[in-house]
Amino acid sequence: MTPPHISDTPMPKVLLTTVDNVFNWARKSSLWFLTFGIACCAIELISVNMSRYDLERFGVIPRATPRQADVMIIAGNINKKMVEVTQVLYEQMADPKWVIAMGACAVSGGVFQEGYNVVKGADKVVPVDIYIPGCHPRPEALMHGFMKLQEKIESESLKDRRMTLADRRIEIAKHV
Ligand code: SF4
Repeated sequence: MTPPHISDTPMPKVLLTTVDNVFNWARKSSLWFLTFGIACCAIELISVNMSRYDLERFGVIPRATPRQADVMIIAGNINKKMVEVTQVLYEQMADPKWVIAMGACAVSGGVFQEGYNVVKGADKVVPVDIYIPGCHPRPEALMHGFMKLQEKIESESLKDRRMTLADRRIEIAKHV
């Protein structure tokens, strides 16, 4: 029997990369999201965390406090009385943070768009990074949304992120 070939090529002792690459790799691999479901889309949000879909293999883990969360998922329509609550929770999340609008109601108000008490899109309340259409979106759609968010994080730089945060605070202040 032939013994396995062992390469005598020395392993590289120096690895060159950028600070952006290291930070982005860490950030995209540990997206902890806030357990914050405000309507029926939250049922899909729950199911995507069960064993059939196993979102944790992407490093996506639910957290029950905004202070430990990186991602806010708006899973449903935002009633006007929930605007302030949503913004307070968003502000309590540490930077960097991202927002996913899950479902037609979060994207645009959905079937409740003409209602007197419903906000016509989560981006009127908090800055949204990823939009997931559908009523309700399947768990696979939410998984795809997280993968798109990971792609977005990969393309960010620390410098741009600082500028974006400043812009975001101005945008939010307009609606408070
Ligand atoms: S998009 Fe559909 S499933 Fe989701 S909150 Fe709106 S009505 Fe409910």
